[in-house]
Amino acid sequence: MSGIVVLGAGLTGLSAAAELRRRGVPCTVLEREAEVGGACRTLHRDGFDFDLTGHLLHLGREGSLEHIEALGLGPKLRRHVRRSGVALAGTVTPYPIQINTFRLPPAVRRDCLLGFLEARDRPEAPESGSFAAWALSRFGEGLCRHFFYPYNRKLFCAEPEDFTADWVGRFVPRPRLEDVVDGAFGLYRQQVGYNASFFYPRRGGISLLAGALAGGVGDLRLGCAVRALHLGERRAELESGEVLGWERLIATASLAHLAALCVDLPAQARAAARALRAVAVLNLNLGVEGPPPRREHWLYVPEARVPFYRVGFPSNHGRVAPEGCHTVSVEVSVPMGAPVPEDLWERCLDGLEALGLLRRERIAVRVEARVDPGYVVFDRARAQAVDTLRRCLAGAGVVLAGRWAEWKYASMEDALHDGIAAAGACS
Ligand SMILES: Cc1cc2nc3c(=O)[nH]c(=O)nc-3n(C[C@H](O)[C@H](O)[C@H](O)COP(=O)(O)OP(=O)(O)OC[C@H]3O[C@@H](n4cnc5c(N)ncnc54)[C@H](O)[C@@H]3O)c2cc1C
Repeated sequence: MSGIVVLGAGLTGLSAAAELRRRGVPCTVLEREAEVGGACRTLHRDGFDFDLTGHLLHLGREGSLEHIEALGLGPKLRRHVRRSGVALAGTVTPYPIQINTFRLPPAVRRDCLLGFLEARDRPEAPESGSFAAWALSRFGEGLCRHFFYPYNRKLFCAEPEDFTADWVGRFVPRPRLEDVVDGAFGLYRQQVGYNASFFYPRRGGISLLAGALAGGVGDLRLGCAVRALHLGERRAELESGEVLGWERLIATASLAHLAALCVDLPAQARAAARALRAVAVLNLNLGVEGPPPRREHWLYVPEARVPFYRVGFPSNHGRVAPEGCHTVSVEVSVPMGAPVPEDLWERCLDGLEALGLLRRERIAVRVEARVDPGYVVFDRARAQAVDTLRRCLAGAGVVLAGRWAEWKYASMEDALHDGIAAAGACS
């Protein structure tokens, strides 16, 4: 058999397969897990629904809302205005911090304001340079020292000098001087940024989205892991021993994994794969008795004394906990493939208690998860390495699609678009 094969039934693969079907083009989807969704999945335990880390649907691109409606999801989703904060210096101030320093202690607020004023006289550093230089020129020394450097150091397990700001564009709003000054006095009132509002299922967790997409897919084979790719012969070897040929392969697994699957990858491409750098996200989910400790949907946590960089309260935006309970989700980064550090979860619980976000004795359910890779590190080797691999795989009819296959920073909304684009490229 030879035709279009889709590797992976996460959002990108499902979106590609649904689009191919809409165009009347047959394809086979291979997914190693027993269920669809990839990173966009929900684990159900004892009445609690835990996403694999916070997954909120931001819709900003043309056609996205219509797409979601066409999937029949309109009435099942609710739109929320973001409530998020930064836990810093013994307090929580609203996010984005650069226009909301007013809740910080006076000395920290002064650092942030003064640094921003000083930075205004310097030219802005390019996004393609180091993140450290870019953030310093854009936000100033105080905001960098208190937030941007420690937060991103934790998130990427790397020094801010060692990665670029290429991924950052639409994600970090640039404030005006008057906004920063207003923010120092609590006068800034508008919601800003790509995630100022988001959609989330009214109940049941984010897996609803993948479930809806899967309804439009024909030949979907779950529990069907690909164990090797033979580029020269355009053949995929499955864990079961079965062999499947392809004319075009839409590959949505991570680029690092795809490279490892290829038995006949040229040496240059293999060297490029070794240069790919990412972090895994370790996720501790808690079902907790009693009311939530805070109203925010999530908090950023830059300080090094706490191991997690972010903590979310998903029951503040969806019905994901039984009556009288709430959920807490913490995220920790480690280098891709690294083991879970010893006593990590205990240190996370200590951190939650220190921030006043948890009383241990109230934990009813605890579920650990891992997304690996989670975040691509945009270091200086990335662009060249991705390009080398993309060109090599394209020669064998492989189309890379999605956040991890393309080794980039992308959202669920992007995954829907990436899938459609990949289907277009193959039909
Ligand atoms: C910590 C974190 C938080 C995030 N939060 C948000 C958010 O709030 N909002 C948002 O919009 N986006 C968020 N995202 C991004 C979002 O998760 C991704 O953009 C999206 O899920 C990518 O889907 P995908 O299909 O490209 O990849 P995946 O979901 O990884 O799908 C790839 C699929 O391939 C399968 N596969 C891999 N190898 C094989 C093999 N050998 N054989 C068969 N199958 C295989 C996998 O099992 C998987 O199902 C977040 C991501 C992370 C890591």
